[in-house]
Formats: sequence, C-alpha cells, structure tokens
Amino acid sequence: MSLRDALAAPASVLWRLAAPVVPRPAGAFHVLMFHDIPSGQRESFRVLVEGLARAGRLISPAEAEGRLAGGGPNRGLAPVLLSFDDGFASNLAVAETVLAPLGAKALFFVCPGLIELSGEAQAEAVSRNVLRGQRAAPEPLMDWAGIERLRALGHTIGNHTRDHLRLAGLPADQRAEQIEGAAGMLAARLGAVPDWFAYTFGDIASIDAAALAEIGRHHRYCRSGVRGANGRGTPPLALRGDHVDLAASRDWQALACDGALALLYGKQRRMLDGLAPTPTLPRQSRGRET
Ligand SMILES: [Zn+2]
Repeated sequence: MSLRDALAAPASVLWRLAAPVVPRPAGAFHVLMFHDIPSGQRESFRVLVEGLARAGRLISPAEAEGRLAGGGPNRGLAPVLLSFDDGFASNLAVAETVLAPLGAKALFFVCPGLIELSGEAQAEAVSRNVLRGQRAAPEPLMDWAGIERLRALGHTIGNHTRDHLRLAGLPADQRAEQIEGAAGMLAARLGAVPDWFAYTFGDIASIDAAALAEIGRHHRYCRSGVRGANGRGTPPLALRGDHVDLAASRDWQALACDGALALLYGKQRRMLDGLAPTPTLPRQSRGRET
C-alpha cells in the first residue's frame, strides 16, 4: 500500500467530521473529473458512482446551474456533478452501463476537431495533444453518433477546444480557432453552442485572462481542474473541478469526492478568480440560439 493510500483512511474519517464546519459557498457542490475509463477501472468507477447515488449526492448539470445562480442549503458532504473530458469511447460505455440505470446526468467535454479524425490520424493527434506525447492513445474517441447517443440519454455536451491545444499563451488567431471555431462546429452538430466549456489540462498554468475572456464570449460556464467547491458566488467562468483517480484506494477517492484535497488549492482558486471576466452573456440575449 502506498503512503498516500495509507494516510487516506484516517484522513477521510477526520474530514467527514470536519467538512460540515469548513466554510463553503451556499449550495456547495463539487464537479468530479474523469477521462477515459479503461476496462480495468470500470468496476472501481461503478462502485464509486453507485455509492454517491445511494448517498443522494449526484446532481445534474441543470441542478448545478441552479445552485450557481441561487445557492441552497448545505447539509453534510457536498453533492457532486460528474464530468468527463476528452470524449473517449469508454465514456459512452459507462454512460450506458453505469449512469443510465441510476438516472444520473453528467457533463461530457469533447474536441470536435479530434472527432473529425479517424484511425491512425486520430490516435496520433490524441497521443500528441491530449497525452502530451507521453503515451499512445488508449482507445478511440466517440464519433458523432456516440455524442448523439449521450444526448439522447439526457447528458450535456460541452466544448473542450477544437484540437485539445493548451490555451495559455496561444496567439489570438489560434485561440479563436480553438474556442470559437470549436463552438461553431459543435453548434452545427448539436443545434446550439454548448453552455459549458472545460479548458484543456485544467491546471492554473494552462489558462490565461485572454482565453477566459474568449470563452466567456461563447459559453456561460467554464470548468477548470483547480480543486474546490462551487456554489453561489463562484465565478461561472472559474468553476472548480476535482479529478478522481480511479486507480487510487477507495479512501483516497473519497478525499477527492468529499472536497478534502481542495484544502490545498486556495492560492490557485484565487489566481483563477483573478483571471475570470465578469459574465457578459445573459441567457435571454444569446445571439447564437436565435
Ligand atoms: Zn482534456
């Protein structure tokens, strides 16, 4: 057992006692982040999500949006919204086999430029852009039929840039291609620009003010990978995301889901809030939906 997993069990017990008295925004919730779910981790994923469902802690994107707008009571451990990045084919498999029987609704962030590729070209682009050249693509991405199936199951599709490029420091023309270009491609396929965006890689160094401003011109919400609780008062373009490592012990996964690891990210949250513009897209006046 690793030191991390050995410490996780007592830390998880302590956190369950402390969590209700740690300050958090009204209507607090966490957005959990997953990527591909390899077959060896499906069971771990199923046990985790079924446990959250039994505890009444799963909320839908619509419920999360309601909490951002109107807050709500905080009782015990915060509820969670499930999110999946990169659009791997295994996302659809767990949507069909794990989420559908529970009636759980989640966010799926996809890269339309990568979906348009196939075979070797897609595998090469996923390895280079998503996995930073560190390993081969583990599996294909969902095709458009798979995305449509997710929508039919009641899930929400979000923009994750066109080609999974890192946005921080990108020249203006490429930034527009990756954000506005992808928004247009998704609108052409889905009928409207998605409300949700998740920036690539998720860490504070992978985003800048220019990119968040561009994201805010096309989308209502932007989820980062900076850990923390969301709720009333959280800037909608600076939403926090908590990655869950399905290879870790159950206790370590609980620390991520229950918000304990977020204690370490206060500085990054303040930096992210400082980059986020004030939202300028009231729902009624969004031109693209007309
Ligand atoms: Zn990604």
